[in-house]
Amino acid sequence: MSILHDNHGRPLNYLRLAVTDRCNLRCFYCMPEEGIRYLPKKELLTFEEITRLVTMMTSMGVPKIRLTGGEPFVRSDLMQLIRRLVEIPGVQDLHLTTNGILTAPHIPELKRLGIASVNLSLDTLDRGRFSAITRRDEFANTFQTLTALLENEIPVKANAVVMDGKNIEDIIPLAELTRSHNLDVRFIEEMPFNGDGPHAAQLVWTHAKILAHLKAHYPSLQKISDPENSTAFHYKVSGYRGSIGIIAAFSRTFCGSCNRIRVTAEGVLKTCLYDDGVLDIKHLLRSDLSDEAVKARILNAFQHRAKDGFEAEARRNDPNHAHASMSTIGG
Ligand code: SAM
Repeated sequence: MSILHDNHGRPLNYLRLAVTDRCNLRCFYCMPEEGIRYLPKKELLTFEEITRLVTMMTSMGVPKIRLTGGEPFVRSDLMQLIRRLVEIPGVQDLHLTTNGILTAPHIPELKRLGIASVNLSLDTLDRGRFSAITRRDEFANTFQTLTALLENEIPVKANAVVMDGKNIEDIIPLAELTRSHNLDVRFIEEMPFNGDGPHAAQLVWTHAKILAHLKAHYPSLQKISDPENSTAFHYKVSGYRGSIGIIAAFSRTFCGSCNRIRVTAEGVLKTCLYDDGVLDIKHLLRSDLSDEAVKARILNAFQHRAKDGFEAEARRNDPNHAHASMSTIGG
């Protein structure tokens, strides 16, 4: 039973923590080509601080933890942190989000440590389009990670941001991965988190359009049940092993059941992906406050949570100013 609830009665039991804002890709939808101004290392939470924070969170009834970034494997000794976190008694499920470039060599150990699942960013199966979208020629490494995850039977979600004019021809080939592999391929609406502002006046590839595109190709596409608190609506092609998800990340149709607590790379708490950040947890961890006092501040922050992503966006200090890069937030 979760202890932590927000002011709208939503239980909070899932912490997403960005361990770095650095990334070895420059995805078009995430950051400008020249990159973003990275945080100095001392501004990142240390492994000790992360371990303390995760321990506090588990004592507040948060058993599910995801490490994200930036690219988590760009942070040196990430595996050391993972080894520590799996030892925390209250951590039931530890998940990772990665672009797969540096991940493959660690997969056997991740399996041994009992990693619950890996989300792999995979916007295309075409090397040329991969280079155009990510501005790096790294497709082979990402694909090697996908293969190794499947071989090691680690649950995988392959995430593709759907971008008009960039990877529409990849929707069906990506969905085809579910024919013989037991994985979840998820198509995500593009959000304006690129540090630059929206790429188009209006989102073209909405969740409805993505679904219509899939249905036109797969008349047997069936809605299947969604896991609790899932942000994706799940479907399956008759006879295929895996499933297909669609995430209405920009349309924000799932806020009513949002169970997520986000901590950015600079140690700031976000009660919604679309807010400005509401509490400087790093500052609290570096003060002489006790664990109980820090937990009380976190609880208090969730008593002022916006009801949905639209309200959170409207409450931003400058709602017209571009959102930060997703690389500091973690997705
Ligand atoms: N480096 C890791 C990776 O590539 O998965 C973790 C961090 S990345 C910021 C987390 C997720 O956010 C990825 O699946 C990425 O595709 C997604 N993402 C980043 N910017 C986005 C945007 N503007 N709209 C939708 N999804 C975005």
